[in-house]
Amino acid sequence: MSVVRIEHVYKDYQLGEQTVQALHDITWSIDAGVFLAISGPSGSGKTTLLNLIGCIDKPTRGRIFINEQDVSEKTPNELADIRARSIGFIFQTFNLLPVLSAAENVEYPLLRRPDISAQERKNRVAYFLDIVGLGKFANHRPNQLSGGQRQRVAIARALAIKPSIILADEPTANLDKATGREILRLMKQINRHLKTTFIFSTHDQKVIDHADRLVQVEDGYITAFGVRSQGDKTWNIARVRNAPEPEDESDSD
Ligand code: ADP
Ligand code: MG
Repeated sequence: MSVVRIEHVYKDYQLGEQTVQALHDITWSIDAGVFLAISGPSGSGKTTLLNLIGCIDKPTRGRIFINEQDVSEKTPNELADIRARSIGFIFQTFNLLPVLSAAENVEYPLLRRPDISAQERKNRVAYFLDIVGLGKFANHRPNQLSGGQRQRVAIARALAIKPSIILADEPTANLDKATGREILRLMKQINRHLKTTFIFSTHDQKVIDHADRLVQVEDGYITAFGVRSQGDKTWNIARVRNAPEPEDESDSD
């Protein structure tokens, strides 16, 4: 089953008089349970793509389905509801609330969920802080934690709603190499054990090497899809050619 299906999606941004075409004709479907990297240089459209999948923004054209539900025409309130139930977010700069403890940060997205009781909230906070190895740090504020620990809190927060998808926008970009590797290993363990689909963006080859699916983005076009079985070192890459060819004035057919 696909958790995300994208059909002929375009995204334009209006910058004053100028239109920036951030994504062109993206068609793509993501299987449940994958550990997927979106790779591409800065400005290629990775964040834009994650924001569309995460129902934070809407496509200019085209359709997006999350768990086979068409989200393209939903209202902002309906999108907020889909996010609160199905999608966890991890950010490059952690985005924890500084005045809240680790436990309160993890609890925060659950406060949007009246269907989850106070007791269940408490259970989930303890459970997911434990999963990320921070059971002893529940009462620490973000400024009392290292970068790696902050990102672990962010992972626990993303997991707390028990989402079907976790989106991570360059999750290791603000961490040193060793800590980044730890964070990826943790994400992968969670992916294997809880079967949560992970979609993360990166421009770092070392980070891509942790993934089992790869989508390469350049200039707003998907240029390649990669698949790799567990334990494989090499990617099985399918190149896509939907980017416009350079203009050619000469006659040809
Ligand atoms: P990446 O995450 O790969 O660095 P982005 O998705 O942030 O790329 O950006 C893709 C393109 O869209 C870039 O040309 C960027 O300048 C442009 N862009 C992104 N967000 C906006 C915005 N809010 N307004 C105008 N242009 C934007
Ligand atoms: Mg980005």
